[in-house]
Amino acid sequence: MDYNYLAELLFPHIKETTEEIEAKYPPRQLPEGAKVTRFAPSPTGFVHFGGLFPSTVGERLAHQSGGVFFLRIEDTDAKREVEGAAEGLIKTLAKYGVHFDEGAILDENGNISDHGAYGPYKQSLRGHIYQVYAKKLVCEGKAYPCFTTEEELSELQATNKKEEIKNTDWLAEAEAKRAEMLARRNFTIEEVEEHLKNGHPFVLRILANGDPDKKVKFTDLVKGNIEIPENDEDFVLLKSDGIPTYHFAHAVDDHLMGTTHVIRGEEWLPSLAKHIQLFSYLGFKLPKYMHIAQIMRIDENGNKKKLSKRDMGANMDDYTSMGYCPEAVCEYVMTLLNSNYEEWHSQNADKPYTSFPFNIKKMSTSGCLFDFAKLNDVSKNVISKMSAEKVYELSSEWAKDFDKELYCELVANPEYTKSIFAIGRGGKKPRKDIAVWTDVKGYVDFFYDKFFTIKDEYPENFSKQDIKLTLEEFVKTFDINDDMNTWFEKIRDIADMLGFASDMKLYKQNPDAYKGSVSDISMFIRIAITGKMNAPDMYTSMQILGYDRVINRINAMISTL
Ligand code: GLU
Repeated sequence: MDYNYLAELLFPHIKETTEEIEAKYPPRQLPEGAKVTRFAPSPTGFVHFGGLFPSTVGERLAHQSGGVFFLRIEDTDAKREVEGAAEGLIKTLAKYGVHFDEGAILDENGNISDHGAYGPYKQSLRGHIYQVYAKKLVCEGKAYPCFTTEEELSELQATNKKEEIKNTDWLAEAEAKRAEMLARRNFTIEEVEEHLKNGHPFVLRILANGDPDKKVKFTDLVKGNIEIPENDEDFVLLKSDGIPTYHFAHAVDDHLMGTTHVIRGEEWLPSLAKHIQLFSYLGFKLPKYMHIAQIMRIDENGNKKKLSKRDMGANMDDYTSMGYCPEAVCEYVMTLLNSNYEEWHSQNADKPYTSFPFNIKKMSTSGCLFDFAKLNDVSKNVISKMSAEKVYELSSEWAKDFDKELYCELVANPEYTKSIFAIGRGGKKPRKDIAVWTDVKGYVDFFYDKFFTIKDEYPENFSKQDIKLTLEEFVKTFDINDDMNTWFEKIRDIADMLGFASDMKLYKQNPDAYKGSVSDISMFIRIAITGKMNAPDMYTSMQILGYDRVINRINAMISTL
């Protein structure tokens, strides 16, 4: 068959050659070892927690090596595209430290536009380029048209499916498929001319030359050495509307855009043989691949399951309303991504995660486990190291959108609020009360009269009389100007006076000799003032609350006893 003639019939409008295209995409001038990576999402919805993995890895590897990280929008499936998804995606990723140097990024007006010399970065704008390469493959006898209409195809697939269920004989099935493929390959130029004259659409298929009995050896930078059967499937390169499939667009785009490392989900691993074949057909150098394991979770029955779209924690946009600060989420992602991150972090507590030397070899080859408890631990650590000023800023920013009532209290007197957040902060062992901004209200509420409620129950093993006497004695002796030692001495005096041990050591030696200890006396006071059993340092809290509030609350409690 005259392939050049066939190519001309199929793509008469394509005049440009691949050489002309290649000239527009010269090799990048980057330092030795610089990695060029990309994130290539389809704009079909929100950013999934799992999407943060390849994008963070891409960002780290590129920026750590002095390379380039770019964003390509894979919008070839118009049916699945969601309006505004691409814009939302860029904003969400930026929030989690994923910044692009190049690609389809947002301009000052919030519209997506191209930045960089290797575009267009939206696949829907690259139709012409794919066709140039498609034409070349036809000229070389490596691709051919297939005039089966979409209806025919879906009919075929439906019957195949039905047969699949009935047919357990996979050999017969494979043979049937093979026969179908060979029939497709068997056509004449005259038939093509006839179809085109009648306006029939066609898909372009690769002419696969692989032998599935032979294995391709391959090294994935995450999964290690693998062997996969060669591809013998004439998969589709261009759909009937001229739009490329993922496989074809991946090869053409990543070649032209100079991607050195393709970082993507492991769901693409089964397609790798197709990609290897395609890169070789096109004469492109194969990039390095990193297939990232899926994120798993433990379900109600204790089984490992994929973190699916609908699971709590899947949608990155939910993290904002749940009150997570992005820094904490980034730290958590790093702990999941690199097994030595936590160790590094404990030795470099003051450094941001971006200083960590990200190491591909330390990535998990199987699925990472998503776990809110661990995320909260990481988050508590991150927030405990922030300044009171920062906690104030971030928590009030969150409350402004998600808890108006709290917001009004927090910002009514910023210095007051900051002094609350300063309790137990700044030392070697900072308090870790806040994991998410939704924890703030429960932690600070007693400092605000609006939220404070009297707790009208005490542990039952103490007499009401003793509690009342404690509080009355406290009111008599309390002086807001006392230093911490004097203040505590007074509490010990109350303990002695009421038959409670003022010395914990003595108490532990002979607990039966006392009604309780000074810590119980403190607890009575704490409950009256904070309404809780657990609260931050009492002395400092009282200093912040001020004399009147402390005395009023104690008196209010006395009147309930
Ligand atoms: N658009 C593909 C996806 O969203 C991209 C995979 C890749 O990174 O190559 O899965």
